[in-house]
Amino acid sequence: MSLVFNNASLVNLVHADTYSHTLQNIYQYQPQLNVMEKYWAAWYTYMNNDILATGLMFFLLHEFMYFTRCLPWFIIDQIPYFRRWKLQPTKIPSTKEQLYCLKSVLLSHFLVEAIPIWTFHPMCQKLGINIEVPFPTIKRMSAEICLFFVLEDMWHYWAHRLFHYGVFYKYIHKQHHRYAAPFGLSAEYAHPVETMSLGFGTVGMPIFYVLYTGNLHLFTLCVWITLRLFQAVDSHSGYDFPWSLNKFMPFWAGAEHHDLHHHYFIGNYASSFRWWDYSLDTEAGPEAKLAREERMKRKAEAGAKKRA
Ligand SMILES: [Zn+2]
Ligand SMILES: [Zn+2]
Repeated sequence: MSLVFNNASLVNLVHADTYSHTLQNIYQYQPQLNVMEKYWAAWYTYMNNDILATGLMFFLLHEFMYFTRCLPWFIIDQIPYFRRWKLQPTKIPSTKEQLYCLKSVLLSHFLVEAIPIWTFHPMCQKLGINIEVPFPTIKRMSAEICLFFVLEDMWHYWAHRLFHYGVFYKYIHKQHHRYAAPFGLSAEYAHPVETMSLGFGTVGMPIFYVLYTGNLHLFTLCVWITLRLFQAVDSHSGYDFPWSLNKFMPFWAGAEHHDLHHHYFIGNYASSFRWWDYSLDTEAGPEAKLAREERMKRKAEAGAKKRA
């Protein structure tokens, strides 16, 4: 019996043999719910098995959102007009290369990511992540998602920086650096250990949050994971447009930030924001190097003046 309404007789009343009938019943008996809540409630009531419903929904959400977000970048790569905004314009990934990457990412999705996805619901239940309708307010969801972005970015910065040390790089992270000029699909092209440990930032931070607050909705997690997927794919796109988000929010990392990381292999370890690399002086690229040298020179000169 689904817990989506937290009311067994209501679930029995609206449950039907098909998804569309269940949805119709919800329209009839629960008209006060918004459209998204109606579709959500119909899914859980129709499936009548919350573990399967959550597992299947997360798996499909991930596949659908990832590949639909990658598709526009794949198309843009085929159109020479867009080269003017390509960060490394001479390095256009070949279709063969992209297909190889696609095959590898799909294999990893089915073999590596399918397992945590299937065990996700029982864990959510234990933690108190709820699936009930109505959803929390937009204000609450937005605040939680902003917090997850900040926390994930922090985790990503340190874990990614660690992955650039000796054996971690050689045996794990090197795979992701196969492409010195990344493209959308290459966002999740990584060693399983990397997928798990960097993925912990996306799933583990909300877990810490719910352990602390005791209150988180699964729909908030769905929106957060979708936005985080978009961020990862976009930062690997290889394109920086005049209308890219980092032009309006200077602290947003975007493709320009991560492309430099792939190009130079060191620096720019954070995922979504620029503040970690900026404040810990790990920015990548020739401009950052020049600024760093300039700063060191000024410091040395000031030191010499003091001693004189
Ligand atoms: Zn790296
Ligand atoms: Zn990357």
